[in-house]
Amino acid sequence: MKLPNVMKTYCPHCKAHTEHDVKLERKGKASSMRRGTRKYEEVKKGYKGSPRTPKKDVYKVGKRPVIILTCKKCSKKHQKPYASRTKKKAEIK
Ligand SMILES: [Zn+2]
Repeated sequence: MKLPNVMKTYCPHCKAHTEHDVKLERKGKASSMRRGTRKYEEVKKGYKGSPRTPKKDVYKVGKRPVIILTCKKCSKKHQKPYASRTKKKAEIK
């Protein structure tokens, strides 16, 4: 799926339709020193395994990409989940 470089959508800050720069959301690097991660590592230590229930195998065909829109007028960002699921990897033209 190909997305346009510039999109004209509603900006909640300007309260009008303005041009936006389009960027795809990417998952950031997981930090090992976070409180939740440290606690999880502590609980997993020693006898007995993971305290969380294992995830079920769910087969999903497509993903719903999240696009980050930056307003050209006020340069504020907001997110928007793309309406349809995509089987191919989303990319910007
Ligand atoms: Zn704006």
